[in-house]
Amino acid sequence: MTDAAIATETRDLFSKFDPLIAEREALLATGVRDPFAIVMDEVKSPTQAVIKGKDTILLGTYNYMGMTFDPDVVAAGKKALDEFGAGTTGSRVLNGTYQGHREVEDALREFYGTSGAMVFSTGYQANLGVISTLAGKGDYVVLDADSHASIYDGCFLGDADIVRFRHNSVEDLDKRLGRLPADALKLVVLEGVYSMLGDVAPLPAMVAAIRKHPNCMILVDEAHGMGFFGEHGRGVYEEQGVEADVDFVVGTFSKSVGTVGGFCVSNHPKFEILRLVCRPYVFTASLPPSVVATAATSIRKLMHAGDKRAHLWKNSQRLHKGLTDLGFTLGTETPQSAIIAVILTDQAQAVAMWQALLELGLYVNMARPPATPAGTFLLRCSLCAEHSDEQVGQIIGMFEAAGKLTGAIG
Ligand code: PMP
Repeated sequence: MTDAAIATETRDLFSKFDPLIAEREALLATGVRDPFAIVMDEVKSPTQAVIKGKDTILLGTYNYMGMTFDPDVVAAGKKALDEFGAGTTGSRVLNGTYQGHREVEDALREFYGTSGAMVFSTGYQANLGVISTLAGKGDYVVLDADSHASIYDGCFLGDADIVRFRHNSVEDLDKRLGRLPADALKLVVLEGVYSMLGDVAPLPAMVAAIRKHPNCMILVDEAHGMGFFGEHGRGVYEEQGVEADVDFVVGTFSKSVGTVGGFCVSNHPKFEILRLVCRPYVFTASLPPSVVATAATSIRKLMHAGDKRAHLWKNSQRLHKGLTDLGFTLGTETPQSAIIAVILTDQAQAVAMWQALLELGLYVNMARPPATPAGTFLLRCSLCAEHSDEQVGQIIGMFEAAGKLTGAIG
């Protein structure tokens, strides 16, 4: 048999993954732990777990407000599990809307001060559903080039034309909007906090640029801003004073709220119709009763979490300063959010640092292209309001030790 015949015979739909399989095997052959196969054997608190028998500080969970173990939140989940069972086994528009789904939507309306709130099974599905349903064929979605995958996937599902602008560039946003037909309908999608580098969008300047152009609606994804930014914890769009200009806010329960689920809130008078036409809302089962009960309790507590917000901000500033003083290159020059990204030179250095930190007892997220901007290799740290002062000190000490061990710092 010729080589060509063998190649034809062995080729199948998995063949396109061969380069990735080879790269992964080469990396694991160097003896490193697989950064994408970590198992939490035990989780003791929002900031502590046992990984491979070792007590580990968690610094890569997005559990910003530490609500996962809040006693009221856990109790609400247990009660709903007892009273309503393990799951709904149905779509929101059929048998899957329970009292708890209504209650969590009421909690969201109150938290955001909006007339409409719609809960999805994940934040990914919220973006997928809202973007694809609002912007269809012939419409435009104008988005930041560094947008989350769920935003891009929402555009693909809806078949709208995608127009990307340079990350956080007001000038490029304005220029690209100016090139679109005036009578076309446009959805501009922004994020409050960008999760890879932890930088915040200049929303007032962006809103001013968008308002120069006709037929634009604005959606802000506050996945990483909810709970932490703004007087009521609504997000960056609240903190920066553009609430009146934003048509839709998308968010998730998987970060500050401490469970799983996604949502969209809006004051649009026709918002409710989305429940009937949004495929990722209609054609999937709703969240289990225990999950919506934990989310509702958590959201209501987040309305009065000023002290926690202040402690989280203190933690973020302290870690940012500590890592800068050690000589690490960070994603932002000043602390902007609860995400602090450490930029490493290449994959080998990123994996070596990640593993050294894990062996010292610190878990952070490793991120690599294509998820990261501009081909960067990052160790992403996300702080929690429940990290104690002592833990933040330990974290900085572990970065110093791992950095010196791997040569990442001098
Ligand atoms: N939007 C952004 C900006 C995100 O970072 C994420 C998750 N990391 C999501 C949406 C999706 O959220 P979920 O985990 O609820 O699917």
